[in-house]
Order: sequence, then C-alpha cells, then structure tokens
Amino acid sequence: MYDYLIVGAGLFGAVFACEAGRAGKRCLVIDKRPHVGGNIYTEEIVGINVHKYGAHIFHTSDKAVWDYMNSFAEFNRYTNSPVARYKDELYNLPFNMNTFHELWGVRTPEEAARMIEGQRLEALEEMRSRGVTEPGNLKEQALCLAGRDIYEKLIEGYTEKQWGRRASELPAFIIKRLPFRFTYDNNYFNDRYQGIPEGGYTGIIDKMLERTEVRLSTDFFRDREGLSELADKLVFTGMIDEFYDYRFGELEYRSLRFETEVLDTGNFQGNAVVNYTEYEVPYTRIIEHRHFEFFGSSSEAGPADRTVITKEYPAPFKRGEEPYYPVNDEANNGLYEKYRELAEREDRVIFGGRLSEYKYYDMHQVVRKALECVNREIR
Ligand code: FAD
Ligand code: UDP
Repeated sequence: MYDYLIVGAGLFGAVFACEAGRAGKRCLVIDKRPHVGGNIYTEEIVGINVHKYGAHIFHTSDKAVWDYMNSFAEFNRYTNSPVARYKDELYNLPFNMNTFHELWGVRTPEEAARMIEGQRLEALEEMRSRGVTEPGNLKEQALCLAGRDIYEKLIEGYTEKQWGRRASELPAFIIKRLPFRFTYDNNYFNDRYQGIPEGGYTGIIDKMLERTEVRLSTDFFRDREGLSELADKLVFTGMIDEFYDYRFGELEYRSLRFETEVLDTGNFQGNAVVNYTEYEVPYTRIIEHRHFEFFGSSSEAGPADRTVITKEYPAPFKRGEEPYYPVNDEANNGLYEKYRELAEREDRVIFGGRLSEYKYYDMHQVVRKALECVNREIR
C-alpha cells in the first residue's frame, strides 16, 4: 500500500513525490504520457536540448524556490530577450526604450513617454466616451498602457491568434505579465533570478523522482478505482473538470501544436525566441533551442552545423487534446469555483498544479505551491 498515488509526473507531482519520499512516505507516480516532466519535458536532438512543449525559462524572485531548483541542477545565465517580427519590421521585447526607438526613432525616456502619453490619452478619451473608466479587457488594458502603435503592431495579432478570440473579449491580466519600461533593458522578466538548467529540465525531474516508483503511459481514468485503491491518498494534477466527470460543464482551454525541424545550419535566427506578431502568420513564435544553452564562445557553442527549431501554432482545445492554457475569464473562473468547492470537501484527494487549480501558473509558482502542499501533508 502506498501513502500517495500521484497522478501526473509534471513539476507539481515530482516536487510532491520528492519531498514526501524524503519524509519517508511511499509514493506511486503515474502519468498518461510516455515520459516524465509534463510540459517542462526536454529531450536531446542532435546534441541540443529541445523544449518539447514550448520554450521554458525558469525565472523567480523567490529565493527559496530558486535555491531548491538549483539543488537539482546548475542553471546557466540565459536571459530571455525575445525579438518580435511584424511583417518586415523587427522589434525588441518586452516593451522598452529599444522598442520605442525602433518604432518612433525616439532616443530619451522623456521623448518616449511623450509619444506614449499622447496615444494613451486618445485611448482613455475613447473609453470615457463609452462610459468606461477602468480597462475591462485586454484591448483596453493594452491601449491604456502602451498606446495604439504598440497595440496594433505587437499585441493585437499575436494575442488574437494565441487565444482564438478578439482582444476585447479577453481578461486584462494576461497582458499585465509583460514588463513595460523606460530603460534600454531587453530582459523579458523583472525577476531577480533566471536561467535554464544545464542538461535540460528532464534531468531535474529524474532526480526528483529517483527514489519513487513511476508508471508511464498510464491514464488514471482508465482504471480509476483500481489505482485509487493502491494508496491512502490521491494527489491529482490533471484537469479538475475531468476528475468530476464534467458534471458542471467543461472548462475552456487553449491548445498548441508544435512543429519541430532539424536544420543544416548552426544559427537559424540568432535568438532563442522570435515572436511573429501579425495575425496572418499562423504560428506565434519560432524557438531555436540551441540559444537557450549555448552562448557564443567556441567551447560553449554547441553543434556547428545543425540547429533545431520549433514553430508554435495556437489551436482550439477539445477533449483528448493537450490543455495548455486555462482561459481564466469570468465565466470559466466561475465554473472552476464550483469544482473547487467540491474539491474542498474531499479529505482523501489533494489537487495541485496548473490544470487542477485552473491557473496560468509559471514554474516557480508551481514549485512554491507544491512545497507548501507537501509540507502541510507531511507535518
Ligand atoms: P503539467 O506539466 O501539465 O503536468 C501535469 C501532468 O499530469 C502531465 O504530464 C499530464 O500528462 C499528467 N496527467 C494529466 N491527466 C492525467 C491522467 N488522467 N492520468 C495520468 N496523468 C495525467 N513557466 C515558466 O515558468 N516559464 C516559461 O517560460 C513557461 N513557458 C511555458 C510555455 C508553454 C507553451 C506552456 C504551455 C507553459 C509554460 N510555462 C512556463 C508553465 C509551465 O509549463 C507550468 O507552470 C508547469 O509545467 C506546470 O506543472 P504541472 O505539474 O502543474 O502541470
Ligand atoms: N503578447 C503579445 N505579444 C507578444 C508577446 C505576448 O501580445 O509578442 C501577449 C499575449 O496576449 C500573450 C501574453 O502577452 O498571451 C502573455 O505573454 P507571455 O509571453 O507571457 O506568454 P506565454 O509565454 O505564457 O505563452
């Protein structure tokens, strides 16, 4: 008999299993995929660690979480600085003095602020004429923050293809993730710590799970009763609506399709991440994986004449597809609340992670949540 059956060998499940194991608990981890790691899984192709489910950059200001992750792997000095391509134009991201210079030729923060202020006021005026005082959706939020030029070239097309909806029908919080600053700083994140684990993320998960029994290609719902009987408690990191057999209805997700290619060149696009912000290009970004781990100098440069790229295509979600992004608008959050109320009444089931909590969590938040959860349990 196990103490815990953990459904999902992603980051939440792995942290939970690792710490419960260290406290002497017996865990069985299952995952329906044929590998561990969930969405942070990386695999080596032509000597390059490939982020199989999209670019994953670890970033946090939470020192305890950073130290915890560094106890499993050394992190390199990678700093995410995506480039945005709009038609034939290139812009630095996130929105900063480089972007403003590329857009308008301005050179000082004062010139940039003046340019943006004019466009922000136009947006506020337009909203006021409709009786709106606070940005109520992503479009209004972006226009009030950055003005029309940035919205039209760098936000609208990308956002609408990413989410499959008009920007005016999306929650404002999605865009609040992105820094907006009046310095020449292309760092996509404001966090104190950032990097990519040497050797890829899968090595971290392998270490976390090294003393735990893991069964892959095992779907919990194929033998729910039989598997549940194996343990005193269940830790569930899959979709909460599926767990409750969709009794209140289906939560909405956005899915993705990844197209990975090996190319005969040592450098395809000169950067790890290039975003394609116009609506007409069907993918949102191209990732060139070598740039996450190899930087310049010949000893660290990686294979000379091969590179691996992945195009990321947004896709609708339907049952059976991978649910990558929760759509945290009011209707879905309301529906999730109903499931959460059911979940709270369970005494043998613990829910955790991005799917089970229906939240747009980054990795550091998942690690923090998993540590808090397992510490509560084993205490
Ligand atoms: P998951 O990784 O989804 O793991 C859940 C696991 O449960 C999966 O392996 C799944 O197969 C398994 N499972 C589900 N149902 C069942 C079942 N019925 N039976 C058995 N197994 C089941 N975060 C960052 O910090 N930085 C980034 O740059 C970043 N980029 C991202 C890019 C993309 C495209 C996406 C989608 C996410 C990104 N994230 C990023 C977020 C990051 O992926 C998550 O925070 C993290 O992977 C969540 O871990 P988890 O364990 O909650 O979920
Ligand atoms: N976004 C955008 N243009 C970009 C990059 C991002 O408009 O070039 C918007 C888009 O709505 C996206 C959100 O900002 O969903 C959050 O971007 P982030 O890069 O954090 O998304 P993730 O890595 O989670 O897909």
